[in-house]
Amino acid sequence: MKILVLGSGAREHALVAALAQEGTHELICAPGNPGIEQLATTIRVDANKPQLVADFAEEERVELVVIGPEAPLVAGVADELRRRGIPVFGPNQEPAKLEGSKTFAKQAMQRAGVPTGGAQLCTTMEEVERTLDQFGAPYVVKADGLASGKGVLVTEDRQAALIHADTWIPAGPILIEEFLDGLEVSQFVISDGETTRALPPAQDFKRIGDGDTGPNTGGMGAYSPVPFLNERFGSQEAFSEEVVRTVAQPIIDELRANGQPFQGLLYCGLIVTADGMRVIEFNARFGDPETQVVLPRLDMPLSELLYASATGTLADTPNPLPIKQNAAVTLVLASEGYPDAVQSGRPLQGLEDAEAIEGVHVMHAATGDAGEGEGLRATGGRVLNVVAEGATLTAARTRAYEGMAKISLEGGHFRRDIAERAAADAERQAKA
Ligand code: AMP
Repeated sequence: MKILVLGSGAREHALVAALAQEGTHELICAPGNPGIEQLATTIRVDANKPQLVADFAEEERVELVVIGPEAPLVAGVADELRRRGIPVFGPNQEPAKLEGSKTFAKQAMQRAGVPTGGAQLCTTMEEVERTLDQFGAPYVVKADGLASGKGVLVTEDRQAALIHADTWIPAGPILIEEFLDGLEVSQFVISDGETTRALPPAQDFKRIGDGDTGPNTGGMGAYSPVPFLNERFGSQEAFSEEVVRTVAQPIIDELRANGQPFQGLLYCGLIVTADGMRVIEFNARFGDPETQVVLPRLDMPLSELLYASATGTLADTPNPLPIKQNAAVTLVLASEGYPDAVQSGRPLQGLEDAEAIEGVHVMHAATGDAGEGEGLRATGGRVLNVVAEGATLTAARTRAYEGMAKISLEGGHFRRDIAERAAADAERQAKA
């Protein structure tokens, strides 16, 4: 197949790598990155311009377009491709509001009877104050629109909650939510608008610092499987099945009933509380960095799934999807200063040495060619991912950290505790 992937991050690198592994496709990526360049033809078409993407796809007779990030979804790229009859993985603008508007998501959940925390939309600071006091600490304050993970504040500090609300309220209504206490899990569900298929669950690490301290980021690491779920739900598969039954399928059905079929990836961000699972957010695309640990566990060609979603034929794929009995861990290397004032432009070395380790792959996110044979340099906050597979979480984790140790970036930093507790949980379960 001739496949066009939109995006330039480690998630898109992982998607392109999984498609390249099938060995039968012609891969194009817009705009791509230096890692993706080794696997696909990269082009300069602006991925956020529906007409340009669709013109290119038509001229080049692209058979499937895979949309990585949220921006092209919000811009209506999927709508235009569908209008022209080009198979596309990724939802239209309206159903993508599940991610783009937290209010839209809350309302859809209420109509579909999906378990989620209490929430109140506030348009004035008086309302904000009243609602904070009503819910009590810890306070959860969210900007309504897309804010790259920076619009959300969870804090014990009422004053900090007020300042955050005051910062975002000029941009639109603020959502104050009930604090949900429990373990966070990400569950990816693929849909063709009607049928759903679950990928394996994963956990990501949003805070910058070890022990979940410091500010939220776009994600500092992830792992799959999630051993805690075995204790709570019996198995990974039982958990995924419950998410599909109580969350994903009702939402997909609700959107279809509203004339807005969702074709693409429904990312269910969940918290498993003492009272059961609750949705904290939806995304309308593959999560980054969870994709990097979920795709290596899929035991069938990724292109078949994406194409089935795009063409409404997901019912013809195996249910449940075949998943490998392996484990995967990814670590994110960030530039000095991230997530605040990023120091970028510094030389980046040792990627080949990391990839020389069995089961280790480096996924590029913010890397650039330094020019004149100078190698690579870091060009942004989250620079790259070191992804490792292994038979167990412990094995994958060890390899990932060995890989990271080979890479040098002045001032670069990464979390040391990714999958630490999960690996210990898995070892304990294996002994029991
Ligand atoms: P979101 O962008 O909505 O996923 O929020 C970012 C992060 O804030 C989540 O991954 C959680 O760690 C945390 N969070 C969001 N909503 C809640 C909530 N209602 N209760 C507790 N933590 C939350």
